[in-house]
Amino acid sequence: MSYPEIKLCIGGVWKTSTKRTPIINPSSGESAGELPHATTADLDAALDAAVAAEKTWSRTAPAERETIMLRAAAILKDRTEDIARAVVTDQGKTLFEARVEVSTAHDRIMWDAAEGRRLYGRIVPSRPGLRQMVTRHPFGVVAAFTPWNYPLASPTRKVAGALAAGCTIILKGAEETPSGAMALVQAFVDAGVPAGAVNLVFGTPSEISEHLIPKPDVRLVTFTGSVPVGKHLGALAGKHMKPAILELGGNSPVIVCEDASADHVAQASAIAKARNSGQVCVSPTRFFVHEAVYDPFVRAFGARASDIRVGPGDDPDSIMGPLANARRLEAIESYVADAISRGARVVTGGKRLDRPGNYYPLTVLADVAPDARAMTEEPFGPLALVTPYRDLDDAIARANNVDFALSAYAFTDSARNAAKLADDLECGALAINHFVSTVPEAPFGGTKDSGYGREGGTEGLEGYTYTKTVSHLT
Ligand code: NAD
Repeated sequence: MSYPEIKLCIGGVWKTSTKRTPIINPSSGESAGELPHATTADLDAALDAAVAAEKTWSRTAPAERETIMLRAAAILKDRTEDIARAVVTDQGKTLFEARVEVSTAHDRIMWDAAEGRRLYGRIVPSRPGLRQMVTRHPFGVVAAFTPWNYPLASPTRKVAGALAAGCTIILKGAEETPSGAMALVQAFVDAGVPAGAVNLVFGTPSEISEHLIPKPDVRLVTFTGSVPVGKHLGALAGKHMKPAILELGGNSPVIVCEDASADHVAQASAIAKARNSGQVCVSPTRFFVHEAVYDPFVRAFGARASDIRVGPGDDPDSIMGPLANARRLEAIESYVADAISRGARVVTGGKRLDRPGNYYPLTVLADVAPDARAMTEEPFGPLALVTPYRDLDDAIARANNVDFALSAYAFTDSARNAAKLADDLECGALAINHFVSTVPEAPFGGTKDSGYGREGGTEGLEGYTYTKTVSHLT
């Protein structure tokens, strides 16, 4: 299968553009295709189409919306192989991971489609003769901006959430990894959403967001990406009085308690850290390990991590693909050099692979100083930082001592430890004894610099609605 021709989708019509820039395959550094840039007229046309479609889509029966969305999910699943191969080409992840991403997108659409039928309001008791009810209403047109790491699964949350709630949407997909967003929009268009309910644009991100967000017809902004861009877009949305859902970065702690099995946790950690080459906002990064199991854990983690084969995503022997772009490669090199200069010990990895493409091995650093930059910034790559602790309260305080609060992980069989961790760790999701921190049926998102708003679960859909209180004196 060859890489698809990337197009914009404006009001249900697929089109290209005279301005196009290259799309690079990170496994080889070679060009994979071309990205069409939307013009200002395209953006305005997409907005007009979304406004027009909202009039019918918001009034379509939830059960009918569900039927169309379930059809889109089925279409996506049927196209798994082609979609996955295109994602491998522009994003770099392994074919296995790309297939999982399609499956994740499918599951998210299924959940949101069904949950759209359950956007309940409520009756609020009042004095005799006065009936009070609270109803939920879609905000209207959503402007969505999604990143390159999960080019299909990330936009799915926004498109499926918005549509299930009765909103329409303009999606700016990731310019470096556009095939996933295009496949998603194609599935919805082919499933029969009204023309203009889902629009797809690409281009220079800042130009698109600065153009769309101030428009009065855009009623909600949703963004997944870095903290600086999230703060910028949140401020822009606030200036124009638009609510925003911001899913930003993380630097997830993993607390390994004294009762955990070093071997078991090390194996799970290597697999979790290798996922998407560590370019995941919930990637486990700072490992705080009780001193009683520290040495065996570091040894086992190093051994397991060095077993992770790195190579092109379409090579069946690869467990981890290249980094998605040269920026990440340079960033990881700089984080590793900085940590080593502050006394960190390289357990495994620590040096880019000498071959074309953005290859960096899974890297475990031990005895990492608290002031190493990677301990407080988001490395967003295959880098695990391990340090010992003696007292759980101290480990929790150190885990919380960053500006991020997205996901956290812990390993313990002690109910007392688990309760303390659940109470005291600052995060939007805590996974105890496993590494899955986001599922379609539960809310996901962060606090502090990791952003606000939730995706998934009941809360995810509610975020695309506002409440109206209707009181009726009889
Ligand atoms: P970046 O912040 O410039 O870009 C991240 C994403 O934001 C890109 O997809 C880009 O299209 C979009 N973007 C950038 N500026 C924008 C704007 N003005 N308006 C709208 N969209 C805009 O940086 P990057 O080099 O691509 O990634 C660097 C960092 O971003 C990573 O280190 C990581 O911390 C973070 N990141 C987080 C996630 C996540 O899932 N939370 C995803 C990707 C990147």
